[in-house]
Amino acid sequence: MQDVIVIGAGCAGLSAAVYLARYGAQVLVIEQAFYGGQIVNTPDIENYPAIESISGYDFAQRLYEQAIHLGAKVVFESLVEVSLQGDVKTVKTSKNTYEAKAVILANGAQNRKLGVQGEDAFVGKGVSYCATCDGNFYKNKTVAIVGGGNTALEDAQFLAKLAQKVYLIHRRDQFRGDSKNVQKVLQSPKIEVLYNCEVTRLLGQDKLEQVCVRNKVSGEERALNVDGVFVAIGQVPQNQMFAPFVKLDESGYIVAGEDCQTTCPGVFAAGDTRTKALRQLVTAASDGANAAFSIMQEL
Ligand code: NAP
Repeated sequence: MQDVIVIGAGCAGLSAAVYLARYGAQVLVIEQAFYGGQIVNTPDIENYPAIESISGYDFAQRLYEQAIHLGAKVVFESLVEVSLQGDVKTVKTSKNTYEAKAVILANGAQNRKLGVQGEDAFVGKGVSYCATCDGNFYKNKTVAIVGGGNTALEDAQFLAKLAQKVYLIHRRDQFRGDSKNVQKVLQSPKIEVLYNCEVTRLLGQDKLEQVCVRNKVSGEERALNVDGVFVAIGQVPQNQMFAPFVKLDESGYIVAGEDCQTTCPGVFAAGDTRTKALRQLVTAASDGANAAFSIMQEL
């Protein structure tokens, strides 16, 4: 029996583990993929207080080591089933069944897909959701990025350092991301921005060769010759497994306030999986601390 099981080893989950371990709680973090969560996809973090610049990978590595050093246990296993009602919470994974007095759901969110023809077929053959992970494959090549948020803008800057040519395809004529990021993109001679454009399909034989785009204003259609396309159009929550126990909002996020308490006693939601206005590294860390604090008050 653990004191607390944390589901997800992203920034929220590992921050919770750091706080819980320092409170003296026995904490088990269960992660299905890799530690760090989405931040490992960010080449350069410039807005975490007191850190001028750090790569997402280095940040994740430091946070993981900090949690382990303080006594948290992290296992890498797939979730199979959860039972969250009652005083004893049960989490079944592909390898074990764990029990705890409280659970923190810090499972983050997954990459949104374009949902166009060719997307699934060319994953790993030209279609990527992570510029930091796959950017190196495109040295001196031509790539396209889809999206208009900070991820797409930062991916464009990162890829412009490697690739010969970068198209940035956005569905509107205004970016959603920060103006500093927008300025850097617009100043780059390697980046060509295609405003008001939507991707209609991805074409190729054995690998991706073309991205077809349609200008929503003029109706003009273009087929861009590319070696890779990076999809950076935001995230969607994946909370179906938790829906029988906690209330979700209309978009599928777990309803919880700043104390991270969900509608189910003993169950807390932290980070991107929770209903909140601002999904950032710093707010994920904050959620981790708040969830840990709420639990320790209860325990
Ligand atoms: P985001 O801010 O939600 O932006 C998603 C972008 O993709 C939007 O521009 C959106 O267009 C577009 N989009 C959504 N669905 C689409 C579709 N089906 N087809 C084409 N385009 C589509 O996502 P994000 O950029 O991944 O960022 C997520 C959060 O992390 C944000 O809060 C962001 O600020 C934060 N973040 C921060 C940093 C940083 O501070 N350094 C870095 C990365 C991410 P519309 O604009 O038209 O809606």
